[in-house]
Amino acid sequence: MSGSSGKPGRDCPRCPRLAAFRDDWRSREAAWFNAPVASFGSRDARLLIVGLAPGLRGANRTGRPFTGDYAGDLLYDTLIRFGFARGSYEARPDDGLELVDARITNAVRCVPPENKPTPAEIRTCRSFLADTIAEMPKLAAIVTLGRISHDSTLSALGQRRAACPFGHGAAFEIGSVRLLASYHCSRYNTNTGVLTPEMFRKVFADARGYLDARH
Ligand code: URA
Repeated sequence: MSGSSGKPGRDCPRCPRLAAFRDDWRSREAAWFNAPVASFGSRDARLLIVGLAPGLRGANRTGRPFTGDYAGDLLYDTLIRFGFARGSYEARPDDGLELVDARITNAVRCVPPENKPTPAEIRTCRSFLADTIAEMPKLAAIVTLGRISHDSTLSALGQRRAACPFGHGAAFEIGSVRLLASYHCSRYNTNTGVLTPEMFRKVFADARGYLDARH
């Protein structure tokens, strides 16, 4: 199915540039996943983490968000620390890692060339993000990773961007959901010191504290 709702089918044709890129990598690397990457984790989770898009040799290769991506090392380590995952992360989809009360998705489901989706692609993929949010009955907190994810999540929630400006550590109440913004845990951000592991952990400590206080 490539349909107007739900989740994108393997051959989703909505973004011609991304579909062509995907086809190219299917012929270059037939053993790779090379398809829209589905969300990871239960719909019953209270926490949703929204990344940007699959990395070429990470999620696009392995088929699980952030898995095999440099960004996954910090993300999964942090989730384990704060009780949002259990097991050990070994950068493979069959490593047995389980998310606990958490789910991970991406604003754009197909790998974009150079990790840069266009505004039209972000918009086109947004209905899948909106569907992912809508199908989570217990959703209470969302962590957005990076400005693109933040802005697209706001639009998916029907919220004006100007009312909830992106900034690392910023937090907003949107209806019954607390939105926590973080810089993306990309290699670039961590290597340049824009985002330190401590800064990243603080966001998840806040999410943990918020969710624990609700019970
Ligand atoms: N891998 C993903 O799945 N999403 C990102 O945002 C980055 C890497």
